[in-house]
This record gives sequence, C-alpha cells and structure tokens, in this order.
Amino acid sequence: MSETDGRTLGQRDAAHHLHPFTDNRELAAAGGATVIERGEGCYLWDDQGHRYLDALAGLWCVNVGYGRRELADVAAEQMQRLAYYNTFFNTTTGPTAELAETLAELMPGHLNTALFANSGSEVCDSAIRLARYYWQQKGKPQKRIVIGREEGYHGSTLAALSAGGIGAMHAQGGTGLPDFAHIEAPYRFLLGHDMPEAAFAAQAARALESKIEELGAENVALFICEPIQGAGGLIFPPEGYLAEVQNICQRHDVLFVLDEVISAFGRLGAWSAAELFGLSPDFMTLAKGLSSGYQPISALMVSDPIAEVLRDAEGGLAHGFTYSGHPVAAAVALENLAILKREKLVERVREEIGPYFCETLKRLETRPLVGEVRGLGLLGAVELIQDKAAHRLFDPPGVVAAVCRENLKARGIIVRAVRDTLLIAPPFVVTREQVDDIVDTLEAALEDISRELGIIAEE
Ligand code: PMP
Repeated sequence: MSETDGRTLGQRDAAHHLHPFTDNRELAAAGGATVIERGEGCYLWDDQGHRYLDALAGLWCVNVGYGRRELADVAAEQMQRLAYYNTFFNTTTGPTAELAETLAELMPGHLNTALFANSGSEVCDSAIRLARYYWQQKGKPQKRIVIGREEGYHGSTLAALSAGGIGAMHAQGGTGLPDFAHIEAPYRFLLGHDMPEAAFAAQAARALESKIEELGAENVALFICEPIQGAGGLIFPPEGYLAEVQNICQRHDVLFVLDEVISAFGRLGAWSAAELFGLSPDFMTLAKGLSSGYQPISALMVSDPIAEVLRDAEGGLAHGFTYSGHPVAAAVALENLAILKREKLVERVREEIGPYFCETLKRLETRPLVGEVRGLGLLGAVELIQDKAAHRLFDPPGVVAAVCRENLKARGIIVRAVRDTLLIAPPFVVTREQVDDIVDTLEAALEDISRELGIIAEE
C-alpha cells in the first residue's frame, strides 16, 4: 500500500516530483496529489478506494476507455519480439511501416506521409521547423514567421509554446523566440456575442489577412490553428471561419497547419476535423487518440507536395527523435485504430452517443449560471457567467469554474476547468446512463454554487 515512514505516497510524490500545470506549493500543503491506481472503461479508482467517472478521458486521449486487454497484449508481444529499434539510417520496423500506411489511408487524400514523434508538442515543433526548411528549399528562406492565435495551445516545447497563445505560459520563460505572431481567437462568446455568426466569422478570419499583410506575406511561413481550441477553453470556430482562414493562407502562399492533436480519431465523430470541415491542410498534427494514450506516440502528416521537397533534402533530413516510430508504441496505435474500426466507435460518436451527449449537456443552458453550452461529438464546454442578462463575466475569472470542478470531483466526476469554462470529453465507450450521471451531477454542483453565490434559479 501507499504508506512508508508514516507518509502517504501522495506526500512522498510531492517531495520529489515537480508536477506539470500544477501549483506545486499548494499541492504539497494539501498533503500531495490524488494517487490514481486503476482504470476500467470510463472509471478510475484512487488509492483510497474512491471511484471517479473520468469525463475528460485522461487528457482527452483515452478514447477507447481504460483497461483494454488487447492493447496490453499487443504491447507485451511486441516488446518480446522487438522492444526497440530506431528509424534513422535506412531502417524501420513492421508496426512503424504499417502505421504510416494506415494513417495515409485514414487521413484526407493529400496527406500521405507521416513523421513520427512522441508527443503533440514535438510534432507541432516539427511542423514549424520543416515548414521553414520547405521555404528554404523553395528559395524563400525569409519566410520564417509563424502566426498562431491567442488562447491557442500547441504544447510546452519552446517553439510550440511560442506558437500558442496562452499568456501564463509565455510569462514563465517562454517569451523571446523571434518570428512568432498571434491573432485573436474566434471566441464569439467573448468577442462577438452581439454579432451575427457570419459577420463574426468574417471579422475573425480577416484578422489573419491583416496580420499577414502587416508582416508581409514574403516573411510568413505558416499559420497554425486547432480546429476547436482545446486547452484555451473549447473555443468553437464560427461557421465558415476555418474554410476562410485556409483560403487566406492559400491566397498569400502561407502554409496551413491544422493541429488535430485532440480532434482526430473520432472525438468529433469523424476521423479528422479536416474531413469534417472539408479542409486540406499542408501539415496535420496527430497524437492523443492515435494510441488512446496507451503509449506516447504522435505523427506529423505531411501533404504530398511538401513531402516531395523534404524527401530531396540534401544529405538526408536532419530531424527526428530516438523514439520516432517506436515499434511498441506503433503496434499499440495500430491495435487502437483497429478497435475504433471493429467497434465502430467513430460512427458511435457521430450518430449515437455524440448527439445524445450534446443534447443532454445543452439542457444546462437554461440555468442562470450558464452563459453558453458548446458541443460537437464528445467534446463539450459549459461556460459559466456572473450575469447572464448583462453578459457580465466573473471577475476575477477562473475561480467559480475551479470551485465547480472540485465540487464535481468530490461527487466522483472528473472534468477540467479553463477560466470559467468546464471542459468535458468522456471516452467513446461512455454510456447514455453515464452521460446522464455527468450532466445530473453537473446540475447538482451548479445548484450548490448558485446557492453559495446567491444566484437564484429561474423557474
Ligand atoms: N496540440 C494540442 C491541440 C493539444 O491539445 C496538446 C496537448 N493538450 C498539444 C498540442 C501538446 O501535446 P503534448 O502534451 O502531447 O505535448
């Protein structure tokens, strides 16, 4: 069990472990982290025997649910046959080759080449580096600037975080990389709630064109965006926005990088957001749902014309990671994709459980504390607001949603809070009863908070 010298495992962990995206001082003062011990389906258990319904699928990645025997078996078998070999210097492994071919089949027609890495951050970084190299090869080495968006999230490595637009990350040693610029997020609830959707979409897309013109298209390498901004608070693009930013990129000869780390492999009820929204990006980043989080693996999909140029790199492509295309991770990813197909989980998200989830969550929109409910597939956001009629947000932001998240955790439901938005993304195997449980519990938590804040429910 978790006791040594009278200290719990959580306390021992806090003494030696710097946790990502955590107030580490507060964590230690609170007696350490919750120790998660076991998972099955949509449920997790901690070392104190508490059960949680994981309505965030780990970090929006455990799409096939916890405790999949098939994935463990494939990993064990592959480790015994060949635990590791590199993909540098003219070698590959069976699972790596098969996975690259499978991804080319699954992703839109012009994306037929994969570069493998271990995390979302690494493939976003790689897209930036390879795009700059592409322009170098095309005789335009001055095309170096990366345009990202405010509240965009592309990872924690230096280039990925510079492309992202999370202020708190830039503030902590993240500033200083040259050649990065940002435009505003298409956050209609904050910036355009009083405008028609089409007008807001046009205005938000125009921000990209203005930025390219201001910087000079001859200096801009790429524009990177998530189809739906995830860690920035589930910001859904207004209709037409994504197609328009792609057009703008094409018009100005700027590469279009679609960060599908969250959105691909069924989360939105399609194999990719590119397929769903009819987009043809030059690069697409994949991670999380590629292995359902069972192994760290990511892929950068490269479009045919760019792959042709990169194949011609003189002296060979000088880029890659020790674990690029790791055979065990690739074997697990292949089996994970086979599970999604065998159990028709992408179809289930599109046709059955996704619509039920969005519809059920939408019911919360009538509550006075809820400013907006956004949802697509199994991705849902509940944005809380202080005064709905006046559209007045909480000040300071980020307190009420965090209280709500903790209230939910105490009731056995795990969600995430960003500013005053609750983010919900359960595994694809979530049942209707579990969706009801999530939404009923949310309703009860909101009831508690309304009472604490003195906001009386409308009848
Ligand atoms: N891009 C997006 C859209 C993400 O959501 C994330 C992670 N949440 C990343 C990139 C970075 O991935 P990782 O944490 O695996 O480096």
